[in-house]
Amino acid sequence: MKKLLFKYKYKILICLLIVSIVVAIPFTVKRTVAEENLNNYQMEITFDNQNMTLSGKETVTYFNNSDNAFSSLYFHLYPNAFREGANVKVVSSNNFDKAYPNGISFGSIDIKNVYNDNQVFKFKIAGEDQNILQVDLLEDLYPDENVEIKIDFDVKLPNVNHRFGFGENTINLGNFYPIACVYEDGKGFFTKTYHSNGDPFYSDVANYEVEFKCNKDLIVATSGIITNKLEEENEMVYSIKGEKIRDFCMVLSNNFEKASAKVDNVTVNYFGYVSDADLNENLNFAIDCLKTYNSLFGDYPYKELNVVKSNFVHGGMEWPNLVMISDDITKSEDFKYVIAHEVAHQWWYGVVGNNQYDHAWLDEGLTEYSTYLFYQNNPKYGLNYEEMVKNACDNYKFFVKIYNQINGNVDTSMDRALNEFDTEPEYVHLTYTKGVLLFDSLRQSLGNNKFFKTLKNYFEDFAYKNVSPEEFIAEFNKYSKVNLEEFINSWLNGEVVIT
Ligand SMILES: [Zn+2]
Repeated sequence: MKKLLFKYKYKILICLLIVSIVVAIPFTVKRTVAEENLNNYQMEITFDNQNMTLSGKETVTYFNNSDNAFSSLYFHLYPNAFREGANVKVVSSNNFDKAYPNGISFGSIDIKNVYNDNQVFKFKIAGEDQNILQVDLLEDLYPDENVEIKIDFDVKLPNVNHRFGFGENTINLGNFYPIACVYEDGKGFFTKTYHSNGDPFYSDVANYEVEFKCNKDLIVATSGIITNKLEEENEMVYSIKGEKIRDFCMVLSNNFEKASAKVDNVTVNYFGYVSDADLNENLNFAIDCLKTYNSLFGDYPYKELNVVKSNFVHGGMEWPNLVMISDDITKSEDFKYVIAHEVAHQWWYGVVGNNQYDHAWLDEGLTEYSTYLFYQNNPKYGLNYEEMVKNACDNYKFFVKIYNQINGNVDTSMDRALNEFDTEPEYVHLTYTKGVLLFDSLRQSLGNNKFFKTLKNYFEDFAYKNVSPEEFIAEFNKYSKVNLEEFINSWLNGEVVIT
């Protein structure tokens, strides 16, 4: 297989040599968002673990960082994907029993009031599937202006092993609050619905200050830094601060046991379950991930990294400063593999963001490839890079063969929205597996020096931003001094035939 991949590589190299003068690809230069113009979320959340409900007061200071005036603002209401009667499915039918071991359960978000100190805003629950809060402004919000919006809301958690929901061991508070929709130049606000494929989320980096009150027996893992704890009878009030993070998540459990260590300026916490024998083993593995990615891509810019075992239907899930790893994974090597993947997302999703709904290959492909790089740089964990790439290639070819047999043809384009993949296996093979092959091929074509130098520049230049595929290609052109547009697009649009 390696040979076949190389054969392809040489063909590409010839093309690259012919066009080795960089041709600037036109793309829209985004406005640079000054640090003081990041959106700010201030939240007061009270959690009731008897009823599995929470009540929240959120004050969003929203900055118009676009060139257009806005008459309305839009917020995602992800919990409504879990409500009774939702059109979308939060898990594929294959995963239903694993997600809902106690049978179907529903959750939702109820918006009570939207206002600020001067006015009450008209609002409506909009979107294709009650997935959007539309807030009508009394006056247009012009570029560089900001507006403060207070939202009072109640949330009900479903009994589901998912990002949002509670299971036997953990309460997962992901996507529980209204979060501003990203405005894309030329396209408007991104308001698509939830989807069972992939991570249907897309957000801007913002600052968070959260006051969280819950039963004091619950241990809290969070995307921010806990700056203060105040005990009030049976409850604990946490003050949490998250700076320049893309989203905010918490995982709660009265069954957590934590192992911690400081690496340079970063505190790494591993949250396992009480009496787990592998707390330090998993902590040390996470530390190795952090060190490896720091040296390959650039330093992790936050003060904490939390790796959290939790009830989760899929292998793992990334949040800023926090990753969930499914307690359903019984094999230690598999558990570690998921840690390596999710921690890599801190670079490709957390710091460098993108529209994960429309271009999932961009973060998932690079993250999965980064996982391969982790094992290449840490041979003590016993996975061989060349064998991993060969297996990815074999798996991909098997997928193409089977899909051809079943359907008579196979669409191998990668740059599709989550709802444009017919099945979960199709999404996984084209986003992760083919993503790995794309990045391996790119590395082989450019050579290690150029490839890794470009990745470091990419990380630095797009830190705290959302990058488009066009900007990604332009960045690789710029630093490799090779026009890679045709090469990368041939992978994305399915022209490349991997034989
Ligand atoms: Zn991932």
